[in-house]
Amino acid sequence: MNQGGNMPQRERDPDYMSREEIEYEVRTRPAQRIEVWETVPVWEQDSGANDEGYCYEHCGGCGRVTEHDDCGTCLDPSCDIW
Ligand SMILES: [Zn+2]
Repeated sequence: MNQGGNMPQRERDPDYMSREEIEYEVRTRPAQRIEVWETVPVWEQDSGANDEGYCYEHCGGCGRVTEHDDCGTCLDPSCDIW
């Protein structure tokens, strides 16, 4: 990443949350879950019938915030939950 010393605040796209921001949100919000429409830009969301069942949440299998199918199955290809 570009580390300019004169910009203490990193630029951020208001329509997109970084992975760190997603993890922070998940840790701090009571519900412990974030809907995909909150974190994924509209143009990257699945426009098909599946988008309702996807969400980001902390995965106990891989220890990270990942996309989950139907709020249950971790979709991270590196997840070893199975
Ligand atoms: Zn996982």
